Amino acid sequence: MAISGEGKVAIVTGASSGIGYATALALADAGFQLAVGARRQDKLEGLVQAIEQSTGARPFAAALDVTDVSSVESFIEGVLQHYQTVHVLVNNAGKALGIDNIDENADETDWELMLDTNVLGLLRMTKRLVPHLVASGAGHIINIGSIAGHEAYAGGGVYCASKFAVRAITGALRQELLGKPIRITSIDPGMVETEFSVVRYHGDNDKAAQVYEGVRPLTAEDVADCILFAATRKAHVNIDEMIVKTIDQA
Ligand code: NDP
Repeated sequence: MAISGEGKVAIVTGASSGIGYATALALADAGFQLAVGARRQDKLEGLVQAIEQSTGARPFAAALDVTDVSSVESFIEGVLQHYQTVHVLVNNAGKALGIDNIDENADETDWELMLDTNVLGLLRMTKRLVPHLVASGAGHIINIGSIAGHEAYAGGGVYCASKFAVRAITGALRQELLGKPIRITSIDPGMVETEFSVVRYHGDNDKAAQVYEGVRPLTAEDVADCILFAATRKAHVNIDEMIVKTIDQA
């Protein structure tokens, strides 16, 4: 049975596009009060308007760069000032960059940015929010991993490493926080059609489109459905991990 989000506050990082955007909308429609962050303010404003149109409630939205400690801290301060509490943290902000073998041609700047965003960014948010999530009495951390966190592939070693790390962090947190009123979930999608591939190929739309040739990828809404499902179980029910893929992907 689904539990309503009424009275609960949910943060979604990387809410300016793709899975984060769809998740914020889905959670808002289920009654959660939203706090959304990303670097692109114009896209966030579009989301604010979409949520307002759909629910009548205006979400908290502010600039957030998870690679920047002061941005993380001022975002969280803003959320707490606005709502005084927070129940759900969806650690969604993330990226893949390049298709690089780990050889002398690989771009180390891409490596650093991926690890900084996908791993350290998630840790920066989590560390600062755990006390508030626990204090809410019904906390929930939902980390967006990937099937790349289950099986490595050639040309994606560093992205895969970042998502293996997300899985490790999720597992460790679940043990560290055992007995406290907080749930820890990992949602691990396969191929989803978002801006992800455009970012991966540094803005090359043609290359990005080729990624989905011959397959019907998941949509961001398909993944948002899974996140919503996990977030709306009864307080004692923890969905540890959900792997979701298109039927066209082995
Ligand atoms: P998008 O590129 O559409 O979305 C990525 C989001 O992350 C954007 O909103 C972007 O916002 C945000 N972001 C990137 N860097 C930062 C940063 N430094 N600080 C704050 N926000 C940031 O891709 P997806 O929706 O597909 O990706 C969402 C998550 O899903 C990622 O963690 C990705 O690894 C994971 N995933 C995606 C899959 C796919 O096939 N698409 C498959 C499996 C997992 P902005 O640029 O405005 O800051």
